[in-house]
Amino acid sequence: MTLLFAAPFRINFMKTFSITLGKPFGIPTTIHWTFWILIIWIIYANASQGQGRAEILWYILFVFSIFACVVLHELGHAIAARRYGIQTRSITILPIGGVASLEKIPEDPKQELVVAVAGPLVNVVIATGLWLFLSATGKLSLGMESLEEVTHINGSNFFIALLSVNLLLVLFNLIPAFPMDGGRMFRALLAFKMSRVKATEWAVNVGTFFAVLFVFWGFSNNPFLIFIALFIFLSAQSELNHVRTESFLHGYKVGDILMQDYTILQSTDPLKHAVEVLLNGQEERFLVANEQTIIGTLSKTNIIKGLTDQGEEVLIGKVMNPELVWLTTEDSLQHAQEMMMQKGANILPVGTQQMLDGVVDIDNLNEFLLIRKATSHKKSMIGDQA
Ligand SMILES: [Zn+2]
Repeated sequence: MTLLFAAPFRINFMKTFSITLGKPFGIPTTIHWTFWILIIWIIYANASQGQGRAEILWYILFVFSIFACVVLHELGHAIAARRYGIQTRSITILPIGGVASLEKIPEDPKQELVVAVAGPLVNVVIATGLWLFLSATGKLSLGMESLEEVTHINGSNFFIALLSVNLLLVLFNLIPAFPMDGGRMFRALLAFKMSRVKATEWAVNVGTFFAVLFVFWGFSNNPFLIFIALFIFLSAQSELNHVRTESFLHGYKVGDILMQDYTILQSTDPLKHAVEVLLNGQEERFLVANEQTIIGTLSKTNIIKGLTDQGEEVLIGKVMNPELVWLTTEDSLQHAQEMMMQKGANILPVGTQQMLDGVVDIDNLNEFLLIRKATSHKKSMIGDQA
């Protein structure tokens, strides 16, 4: 199974235990630590059935080859997304498949369709390549026979088995279980006809139906399907929330929630000064300046971490978050939210270094969202009564 995610739905993949494979096309690709459980399980399961060392090695080689195909599949998504200016933060290999963490999912249904199709298309290409190779070497029919006879992977049926796995990957990913590829294609097709929120709701409902089927099927056949179902269910809900939130923010600008009452801290002051300001007022996050130039942000979390790690005398400039992006009052709130997530900053400056108009912070944005949700809910209730 392969999944595509936008950064906000990134799961914390316990990076410390993951192994980085490299950066194909500049995208950090890692094997998640749980993947090794799969390998140990394969060794254990085969060894307990009395399989020899060679057979187990063939099996492991086979699993790695499958996951190499999965990496290529994820790269297919990543390269398609790059065409639309969307970068991929990472590709992670899990025992249940691969995950490409895209900066965002394209909103244009045509673009989402292309990005979703690109993954399975890679497996079609691999399968075709293997088919051509096998028929050219005259091993295709021979391989087919050995695939039927033997359930074990070995030199004679390795490539034909890999070919069938690639075809299975295509078929499985085409199941319209949002946010699997097929589900994304389904949502994109619906979004040509209806709003993105409505299309997502439909796709999530159909996806949930398949997730339930996977659970039943999983209990009797393949326990991996239960994990996949859980993954589908949780990520579909979180993406639905995100799309709804986006629709509430739609049409509003940074200027609508601009805050003009804020404190700027100096990077050369000790952290204890930030603690005083934090305790004396309502503000929980601040801009940090070096004299007149804004150079970063400082949140309550940064302060607590700085205090724990380096004590109260450390300079604010050493513990601040230097990831900064400037917003303008004309930027959309959606853009503001994306930038906050991308930079890991809960507060961002609005205006320019020469002319600071104000700030937006995450509480502010969330309050605005709550109010928008409450008022639109009321409106729809009134609509229902009328
Ligand atoms: Zn995919």
